[in-house]
Amino acid sequence: TLSDRLSSVLANLRGKGRLSDTDIDSTCREIRIALLEADVALPVVRTFIAGIKERAKGAEVSGALNPAQQVVKIVNEELIGILGGETRRLNLAKTPPTVIMLAGLQGAGKTTLAGKLSGWLKKQGHTPMLVACDLQRPNAVTQLQVVGERVSVPVFAPEPGNGVGDPVAVAKAAIEEAKRAQHDVVVVDTAGRLGIDEELMRQAADIRDAVRPDEVLFVVDAMIGQDAVTTAEAFRDGVGFTGVVLTKLDGDARGGAALSVREVTGQPILFASNGEKLEDFDVFHPDRMASRILGMGDLLTLIEQAEQHFDQEKAQQTAAKLGTGELTLEDFLEQMLAVRKMGPIANLIGMLPGAGQMKDQLANFDEKRLDRLQAIIRGMTPAERADPKIINGSRRLRIANGSGVAVSEVNDLVTKFFDARKMMKQMAGRFGLPGMGGGGS
Ligand code: GDP
Ligand code: MG
Repeated sequence: TLSDRLSSVLANLRGKGRLSDTDIDSTCREIRIALLEADVALPVVRTFIAGIKERAKGAEVSGALNPAQQVVKIVNEELIGILGGETRRLNLAKTPPTVIMLAGLQGAGKTTLAGKLSGWLKKQGHTPMLVACDLQRPNAVTQLQVVGERVSVPVFAPEPGNGVGDPVAVAKAAIEEAKRAQHDVVVVDTAGRLGIDEELMRQAADIRDAVRPDEVLFVVDAMIGQDAVTTAEAFRDGVGFTGVVLTKLDGDARGGAALSVREVTGQPILFASNGEKLEDFDVFHPDRMASRILGMGDLLTLIEQAEQHFDQEKAQQTAAKLGTGELTLEDFLEQMLAVRKMGPIANLIGMLPGAGQMKDQLANFDEKRLDRLQAIIRGMTPAERADPKIINGSRRLRIANGSGVAVSEVNDLVTKFFDARKMMKQMAGRFGLPGMGGGGS
């Protein structure tokens, strides 16, 4: 696994300053292999790694992680970003029915997905209808009917015994029927070929023009690996699609197809199919896919733990300082950043029990004010942060100018800081809080 291969790089001590080029290069080399082993297409690997190197070079070394761990963390974040950067829900039509058309090679899992998707939609309160537009294979219609029955979703199909049906006519009639019977979503199953061919593309494009779908979902088998790119390109150019569904993720594929298709077509992955049973279906989870592609679930857990532990250590150090009155503005900034990392303050407070009546005030909570506080502290020199007492009038003016705020705001911050520090000291003295009493730990 990637973790094993990275073990030598991982043995490095915690770094200082910036990540070294050697650290970045050796880690990226291993990650490149991991991506190729996951069947990510080579050009995609190249662009991706180049982007990672760029970002890693600018990154500060974290106190919590060693350089390799840190590069892996960056890679993971970037992967999640790319895989889910544009994660979105299904596009629903303003005037029903919403039309969802499925396209992809034969065997990709379209018909199975039609059942899974319509079953899922039904659970969400929709009234879906399936449409059998694969009239190529003799039993394709029956297969869809079986699937539809299992999820209790009606199937619109051509009358049996009418000779070879015209999928475009069936599609058109289906939309009329959906309007009449008030189905709010229509899922159109189409034919596929074993390989890409022009007739298939033309037929799919004709069906598309006839039903004007709100979504065309490109269904792709995660096991096809490198071929995912050419197939996706062919469907993009031949039919066009607005989203991707990955199937057969229950197999042993490492899922590189996900990254390739996403990168090459720019279209989001909406759903994942992971088994033959109709309930083996879920919305797509970028984070799970990222760790699957990199093959480093364990490593990521370790990184998370290291960071948590590091944060705890820091919090304890800060707590110990509180009571002795040694708290600095640097500590203050760190605490503020740590809290903000968890999301907007209003959300955090909203999660606390009894926050109900505070809702209105929270709605007005000014995140911008925190931005300004942050800017002010960042505008101070390390010496000023460590010993705010030295911040005299001319320093205040400089800080205000540097951080783009009024001098009064700097004054306000410094005053509040001293008040807070004094209060903490008194509290610690009165209650004799452990770890706050100075001297200890
Ligand atoms: P279509 O030709 O695109 O309509 O593909 P089908 O829906 O007929 O699926 C082809 C085969 O793949 C069938 O045997 C399905 O049972 C199987 N299949 C579809 N989706 C999945 C999946 O997510 N996991 C597994 N293991 N098999 C799947
Ligand atoms: Mg089919």
